[in-house]
Amino acid sequence: MARTFETELDELKQQSLLRKLREIHSTMGTAITYGGRILVNFSSNDYLGLAGEPFLREAAKKAIDDYGLGAGASRLVCGTLAPHVELEEKLALFKGTEAALSFSSGYATAVGTLGALAGKDDVIILDKLAHASLIDGARLSGANLRVFPHNDVTKLESHLEWARQTHPEARVVVVTESIFSMDGDRAPLAEIVAAKDRHGALLLLDEAHAVGVVGANGRGLAELLGLAGRVDIQMGTLSKAIGVSGGYICGRRPLIDWLINRARSFVYSTAMPPAMAAAALASIEFLSSPEGEARRRKLWENLKVLAEGLPPGLTPEKLRSAIVPVMLGDEERALAASRMFFDRGFFVPAIRYPTVARGAARLRLTLSAAHEPEEIQAVTEALWKLA
Ligand SMILES: *Cc1c(COP(=O)(O)O)cnc(C)c1O
Repeated sequence: MARTFETELDELKQQSLLRKLREIHSTMGTAITYGGRILVNFSSNDYLGLAGEPFLREAAKKAIDDYGLGAGASRLVCGTLAPHVELEEKLALFKGTEAALSFSSGYATAVGTLGALAGKDDVIILDKLAHASLIDGARLSGANLRVFPHNDVTKLESHLEWARQTHPEARVVVVTESIFSMDGDRAPLAEIVAAKDRHGALLLLDEAHAVGVVGANGRGLAELLGLAGRVDIQMGTLSKAIGVSGGYICGRRPLIDWLINRARSFVYSTAMPPAMAAAALASIEFLSSPEGEARRRKLWENLKVLAEGLPPGLTPEKLRSAIVPVMLGDEERALAASRMFFDRGFFVPAIRYPTVARGAARLRLTLSAAHEPEEIQAVTEALWKLA
């Protein structure tokens, strides 16, 4: 007899791996109402506190009045409205590329783009800790896959060498993130760019957690390191620091034209609601303004407050992003730690398999420019209870 969902769910529960939805009753900046309590939220990817920003709400409301709610069709049919075009022009300008294309989510961006870039005769080489959307896109493409240990450029080089020898005609695509979503560390980008250039490969860099956080005007890690012009496929999301929803690719015009023709998540899906495109456009304009730069500086000041108070051992020596992993290993221990934070008035969820490897459970604390220094000091005190 086939196993039932009940027994499978029971097994997850036994292993402290069962996951459930939590209903958040209201959000007021960094405060959320959950389980009848008001908690300070240290789990959102809204790093600049833009998701609730009044001027973004206004931009969305105005677009609803002008264009309605649903786009009505896919982009290639009649779903390309003025906000989509303006958003893509702004994204290309912001990233300094010839062109840009938006998708309805970051997940759809990764899956559609990798599927369009590579097929069964090609090679995709991924960092071991690449986001699930990148892994799914790589698998769905049907390309030959190779994985290198996290940030291990020597191993990447040997995969590139292997690809050239065994698949001389293949398109070879290296895939990594600039700031890693669950570890908050950075890719050794200069070395990766040099390696892929030496082997004539393309690089897809997912800047989901870097945009808005690092680089001039929050343009990302490639910009910060002066490497943006050498990253072939610049990916990002509109759903993290940008505070809205959606994803994008920036790059050369022929790349974007190819995606318009071949990225299935773009071609066969209704366009992003025009109000989301209008809000994302307003957010990117804000990032490039002096106020946006000040907001980003506030985030880094908050990170400094946290770094100064952190207990040694559990957390990274140096904070390289707005993501602070607190490594606990055991799944049950991570859940207990999360409950301890809840009891003290903080929302810090446990991150477990399959989001991270088995036995690599952790708390994932994220900071926002909207946190108050007192809130950060208080959460730091709770962290010492775990040390
Ligand atoms: C969140 C995330 C995505 C997916 O973006 P969504 O807009 O949430 O679908 C893709 N890549 C990385 C690295 C992410 O962290």
